[in-house]
Parts: sequence; structure tokens; C-alpha cells
Amino acid sequence: MTLLTVEDLAVRYETREGSLHSVNGVSFSIGDGVNYALSGESASGKSTTAKAILGLLPDHAVVESGRIEFEGRDLRSLTSSQRQDLLWEEIAFIPQTAIDALDPVMTVGAQTKQAIQTHRELSEDNADRRARELFETVGLDPERIDDYPHQFSGGMRQRVVIAMALALDPKLIIADEPTTGLDVIVQDKIIDNILQIQEETDSSLLLITHDMSVIAETCDEMSVMYGGTVMEQGRVENLLINPSNPYTMGLKNAFPALDDDGDDLVSVPGKPPSLDESPTGCVFEPRCPFSTEECSTTEPEVEPLPYRDHSVACHNADRAARMRRDAEDAAT
Ligand code: ATP
Ligand code: MG
Repeated sequence: MTLLTVEDLAVRYETREGSLHSVNGVSFSIGDGVNYALSGESASGKSTTAKAILGLLPDHAVVESGRIEFEGRDLRSLTSSQRQDLLWEEIAFIPQTAIDALDPVMTVGAQTKQAIQTHRELSEDNADRRARELFETVGLDPERIDDYPHQFSGGMRQRVVIAMALALDPKLIIADEPTTGLDVIVQDKIIDNILQIQEETDSSLLLITHDMSVIAETCDEMSVMYGGTVMEQGRVENLLINPSNPYTMGLKNAFPALDDDGDDLVSVPGKPPSLDESPTGCVFEPRCPFSTEECSTTEPEVEPLPYRDHSVACHNADRAARMRRDAEDAAT
């Protein structure tokens, strides 16, 4: 069963400098119980996509097109109170800046209880018990429920935000770079924690991250975004083992010619695209070592590759994939 469908989503921001076309025709869907990754380098439109799903875009954002359905309900047509209910009850959001999301003058326990009691009629005692349970679930000492956020480390505060987001057994957890700014060991623990909870509650996960090793470990399916468009999508193992879009190859360093250093996103040479106008050709064309005439004039559609759960938006996917395989063969 499909839980979330996003179809042809386009979002622009109206800024003092003009329009910024941040998301340009993004489509993907997430099935029941699936862990889905949204990846791509900074400014590729990941957070904007998540906020559009959640209805949390700022006022100067314009949703130009797109269908967003959650369990068959059209999320774009919800009233703000319907949306408010859905957000807490069914879709949990762990924002990119979760560390700052806590109220500094309220104890972490009081904030967690408030998250519960706004939506469930629970007595003070029951809310307290539930809050302590949640603290245990996310690996926090329930005895510290009366502490204030500043008494916690960054990783612990992030766990509080996760506990609050999970208070109501959501069907979908949207986590936007939930471990940014935390040290590596804490990052691992938090990812483990989210996964464990996601398994226990049988919810689906939309994980926004540019960390390919986290994706390989935790997700079933993924989309790779660039310049507000989807470059490649499908089963994680297909994409990571056989990337067919030159951009994904660059991210993964699977193609030696694109290999700078390390296996980070910044290893794709060149600058991110300008988002001032809707793209005419492929957004990656100026940086792509495989680009041809067609790439600068015609935007490639996301098209399925034969025989696999794997789609790619690239006019030269066959040639690029063949060259990648030849290079891999030559290297072994
Ligand atoms: P990151 O990995 O850095 O979080 P992202 O993929 O989440 O990046 P977005 O935050 O969706 O990217 O941003 C996409 C583009 O939209 C960027 O060019 C960004 O500067 C712009 N943008 C994002 N939020 C706003 C905003 N509130 N107002 C104006 N422009 C914005
Ligand atoms: Mg972001």
C-alpha cells in the first residue's frame, strides 16, 4: 500500500532578488513500512520538498504545482486545523534544526507532556508515565525529565525532539538531517534509535540526508535530487551499486574521472545550479562530463530502466553507465 505520494511538485520562493525555483517537478512515493531516503547536495530542494509535504512552507513560498496524497487524502486541500491534527497524529516531523526546536524555559518533561496532552486526553499522571516511557525509548534517563534543555548535550536534546515527535505513534516519520551537527558516535546512535522505533511502530520513514553510508545502512528506496529535480530513484542497492546518472556517480565517486577526494557530495566538481529560472535543459548539464547538445536544450524525464526498480533522468544514462562499468573493470 502506498502511504505518501508526491507528484510533479514545484515550489518557488519569492525573494527580494526575484523568484527562486527551488523544486521543479519532483515525484516519488513511499509505501507502508518503507524507509525512503531523499538525498542530494546542499540546496537541492530536500527540505523544501519536506516542508511542502508537511504544509510548513513560509508565506513567501509558492506551490506552483503538485499532488500530495497521504493515505489517499489530498494534503494540499486540508484546512489548517485538519493539517495540525494530521501532523501530530500521523506524520511526525524531526526538523533539520531540531536542536533549536526546544523551549529553553520549559523542562524537557513538561514539553514532552504538552506534546502528548495537546492531542490525547491523558491525566497528568498518565502523561508523565508516557513521557518517561518515551524517554526510555529514545535512550534518555527518565529521571532527568525535570531538567531544562541547556542541561542536555546536543545529542540528548535531539533525542528529546525525537521523543516528542514519536509521542503519538505516527504512521510516517519525516526526519530532515536529524544528526547534523552531532558527533559521529552520537549520529550512529540516533540513527539506530530512529530505526529501532520505526521498526517497533511499523511506521514509514522519509529520511533526508546526504550521507550515502547512512542510506545504505538504513533505507530501502531513495531519490537523488539536484537543483530541485530528481536525478535518479529506485531501490537503494540498485542505485548505489549501479548508479546510472552521472550526478549520482559523482556523489558516490563510482566514476573515477569524477573522483576528487573522499566520498562526499562535494566531490562533484563545479557549482550548484542557478535556480533563477525554471530549467530548460538538464540542471546538471554545466557540470556533467557526459553532456551533449540535447542536454542543454531538453530536460530529461525520470524514466525507468528496464528490468529493475530503478529510474533515471539522463539522456546519456546508457553511455555513462557503460563507461562506469568499463572504468570499474579496468580498476580491478
Ligand atoms: P541543505 O542540504 O543545505 O539542507 P536542501 O536540499 O534542504 O539543502 P532547501 O533548503 O530545500 O535545500 O533549499 C533549496 C533552495 O531554496 C536553496 O537555493 C535555498 O537557498 C532556497 N531556500 C530555502 N528556503 C528558503 C526560504 N525560506 N526563502 C528563500 N529561499 C529559500
Ligand atoms: Mg535542508
